Amino acid sequence: MDKMDGSEQARQKLADYLRLNSLRNTPERNALLDVIYSSDAPVQAEELSRLMSDGRRLRISRATVYNNLRLFEDAGLVRKVFQEDRVLIERTDRSKGVIRLVCGGCGKATEMNNDKVRRQINEMRTRRFNATDWVLTVHGLCSKCTADLKRKQNRLNKKIKTKNENRKD
Ligand SMILES: [Zn+2]
Repeated sequence: MDKMDGSEQARQKLADYLRLNSLRNTPERNALLDVIYSSDAPVQAEELSRLMSDGRRLRISRATVYNNLRLFEDAGLVRKVFQEDRVLIERTDRSKGVIRLVCGGCGKATEMNNDKVRRQINEMRTRRFNATDWVLTVHGLCSKCTADLKRKQNRLNKKIKTKNENRKD
């Protein structure tokens, strides 16, 4: 028997999930899933309804897109990737793992893509352990907090400088 491709496997997984949750399987749902699974790169959520109407002649409202994305996420078929202020959607079968940048100043977390790091971790052998997924956390400061810190340091340096100058007088 031929091995099913990612898109077919995803459709099967979706059908199982819908059946288990007594939800309807619709052509729109399958078409949306196909659009996501036709790309290896993450897609912007807002782009999806436009991509759906391109060539496929399936009109699907933004609300329906978002509702279905939530459903796909619950079914483990897609995941959100946060890139700066954008939210991207990607298939879960190709890209295992998340690289998360956490700011120690404001606590904001963003996610980034680095195919080289991803590949290396995914190819890593774990002894007596079956790794299914991973999260890599990078600690640091975001650009806003870095600027705030610099401003604070400058202010402090200025204060010290004026204090020293006053002493000389
Ligand atoms: Zn910050």
